[in-house]
Amino acid sequence: HLDQIERTDGDLGAFLHVTSTQAIAAAQAVDAAIAAGEKPASSLAGVPLALKDVFTTTDAPTTCGSKMLEGWVPPYDATVTRRLREAGIPILGKTNMDEFAMGSSTENSAYQLTRNPWDTDRIPGGSGGGSAAALASFQAPLAIGTDTGGSVRQPAAVTATVGVKPTYGAVSRYGLVACASSLDQGGPCARTVLDAALLHEVIAGHDPRDSTSLNAPVPDVVAAARRGVDQDLAGVRVGIVTELQGDGYQPGVLASFTAAVEVLRERGAEIVEVSCPHFEYALGAYYLILPSEVSSNLARFDAMRYGLRVGDDGSHSADEVMAMTRAQGFGPEVKRRIMIGTYALSSGYYEKYYGQALKVRTLIAQDFTTAFESVDVLVSPTTPTTAFEIGEKADDPLAMYLFDLCTLPVNLAGNCAMSVPSGLSVDDGLPVGLQIMAPAQADDRLYRVGAAYE
Ligand code: GLN
Repeated sequence: HLDQIERTDGDLGAFLHVTSTQAIAAAQAVDAAIAAGEKPASSLAGVPLALKDVFTTTDAPTTCGSKMLEGWVPPYDATVTRRLREAGIPILGKTNMDEFAMGSSTENSAYQLTRNPWDTDRIPGGSGGGSAAALASFQAPLAIGTDTGGSVRQPAAVTATVGVKPTYGAVSRYGLVACASSLDQGGPCARTVLDAALLHEVIAGHDPRDSTSLNAPVPDVVAAARRGVDQDLAGVRVGIVTELQGDGYQPGVLASFTAAVEVLRERGAEIVEVSCPHFEYALGAYYLILPSEVSSNLARFDAMRYGLRVGDDGSHSADEVMAMTRAQGFGPEVKRRIMIGTYALSSGYYEKYYGQALKVRTLIAQDFTTAFESVDVLVSPTTPTTAFEIGEKADDPLAMYLFDLCTLPVNLAGNCAMSVPSGLSVDDGLPVGLQIMAPAQADDRLYRVGAAYE
């Protein structure tokens, strides 16, 4: 895999830092343990992985794709990082991402573009485009992403890989640099559903260091994926979400979706259509809640505690140093969201914007609750279109935001979802993803249906 990175990453730009020495040492440690007759630490021991540069690592910089954290090497490992190491999984390096996970194309990285291996003029999705490109180009068989509004599922869809947003609280956020704390969730990325399940098992589970971590057993996702392999979905009720199709969707995406639903039907699933009437307000609610949390979370980048410090030459006040550092350290999308969030939370506007968005969030969660009274899983396309060209939406934030239309409701409600490849679009020959959504703490259903479909 290191050779493949060496050969291909000059063109693809999936990695921000490659940690060859540490990866080789970790792989050798696994070999040595096996040679000494020890039981491997996990079923993935020795299988290498690409880690999104938003998880802290003590042996490599953690930049979150931002100049604000250029060269910053954290003093502690994230819980996810620690669990990977304990499972004997060698970390190949840290992958490129939109700055602080804000974006849908990885074009907001302050360092480099990442190209889609299927067509290098196109985006690999975002914010976790680096992890998805690494998988699709066989640089790594496993990767980790984070999904705040779709950043695992949407890159998976446009690169024909598998990506999972687990139930909120299933995977610890300790050491995951916060974007929007009530939405962020780390998740497994792989080329098959079973691989994703094995990785899910490694990273999920209660962590007392994260106050929102679920203190409940992790559903047996590996057993569910293995069961799915028999392709028998008899008795499984699948709901097609009325609101996540139709106008604005690329014909080839809809054709792929219809064909995917037929496959589920052939494998025994009962298919019904379900309306989730408040999903159409998800985009509006998300783009108030997320910036509000961002404006609060990113206040920690004050030029004193981490990374970049500009103008610290004795001739400027602390306030000036802070302002100059933020002006230089944050990119345009991050600044836009900090300003929107500060406005939405300000006195006099709080009720009108943030408060209203929270009410919509509750209605979206209720739509899911009602839907799951009559079906086991919901399905939709993962994205309205296939991968767009690099630069195509760079000057149009709203067009960029619309790319996440199908993935946002799950983050707002806190339940779980997966994107699994559903073939290539007849329009342009590019990958399309099928999104499968399940109730909170029923992540195993995603794996059973995903593996049965795959
Ligand atoms: N694209 C969405 C955004 O820009 C989601 C990002 C994410 O999931 N981190 O906010």
